[in-house]
Amino acid sequence: SREIRLAARPVGEPGPGTFELAETRVPQPAEGQIVVRNTWMSVDPYMREWMKEEVSYAQPYEIGAPLVGSALGEVVASRAESVPVGSVVTHFLGWREYALLDAADATVVDTTLAPAEAYLGPLGTTGLTAYATLTRVAPVRPGDVVWVSAAAGAVGSIAGQVARKLGAARVIGSAGGPDKVKRIVTGFGFDTGLDHKAGPIAAQLAEAAPDGIDVYVDNVGGDHLRAAIAELRLHGRIGMVGAISSYNATQPVPGPDNLFELAAKNATLRGMLINHHFDLFPEWIERGSAWIADGSLHYEQTVLDGIERAPEAFLGVLRGANTGKMLVRLS
Ligand code: NDP
Repeated sequence: SREIRLAARPVGEPGPGTFELAETRVPQPAEGQIVVRNTWMSVDPYMREWMKEEVSYAQPYEIGAPLVGSALGEVVASRAESVPVGSVVTHFLGWREYALLDAADATVVDTTLAPAEAYLGPLGTTGLTAYATLTRVAPVRPGDVVWVSAAAGAVGSIAGQVARKLGAARVIGSAGGPDKVKRIVTGFGFDTGLDHKAGPIAAQLAEAAPDGIDVYVDNVGGDHLRAAIAELRLHGRIGMVGAISSYNATQPVPGPDNLFELAAKNATLRGMLINHHFDLFPEWIERGSAWIADGSLHYEQTVLDGIERAPEAFLGVLRGANTGKMLVRLS
């Protein structure tokens, strides 16, 4: 069995020296435990934050220890009646081929609703992040103009479609490069695509939304957040979901210099951490899986094969190598 450990804390962009592929034994379960053969694992931008010595909201990864993150697999040994051998479960011990965990820390998934790996994407915390942001943190109201950044990515591609379902009149997305910009319109149903690599996002947004925006789903931070505040309409709402433009920064990143416009606009800028919205999971699985089943919610994934490619997948997600959810399929 193989696992990937944190070899060193990266400074700036992580590289191959950040990771170490190591051999371990296949574990045996104690009473109440299960062993899962992981078949899919997720790589996520937040993992870059957890590589830092100080993380405000979680335990940092330990040097020399295997990384953790969402994964999915089949139970191959069980000493827990609630989760028998053969169950397909999601859990949080990714980055390894075999995971040993308490049965209570595994969630059995219903693979009749959608392919199993969808529980790491649209039906997992990714999809829930989009749903909780647009229903609770920065709620969409019928007729709204909505902007979603990192719109070709896992959260963003779902968010644009959910915004439409909730009654948005216009949904603008931004992504990097002409292919992704085209994809968000043709694949994910955005009305307009902006290319953050083609020029300043502020000018493009002002042109695309001459009367302003009501809701912004911020996956990027920095110049994108500043542009959203500038174009926000009265009573506008911003969900602060991610700030990927600054995760590799080696210096403190200046905040938007126009925050006080929020007062004049009676607007809301609200942070969201998905762990505080897990109560919405049953509602989201019910609605999201129905939309997937009737074909009205489209999702994509970018897949790399083999645990040895997990570092490459992770570096790729930070650089934008993915469309939809970046996943690693374990052999
Ligand atoms: P994505 O699938 O969206 O992948 C990240 C994307 O970010 C890349 O594909 C790339 O797309 C884009 N990107 C990278 N650098 C920049 C940059 N400098 N400017 C603009 N875009 C950039 O990842 P996720 O959907 O998993 O996550 C999206 C965001 O949501 C992240 O910031 C993440 O941390 C956050 N998140 C927060 C959660 C919470 O609880 N608060 C939960 C889940 C995610 P492109 O090629 O278009 O540039």
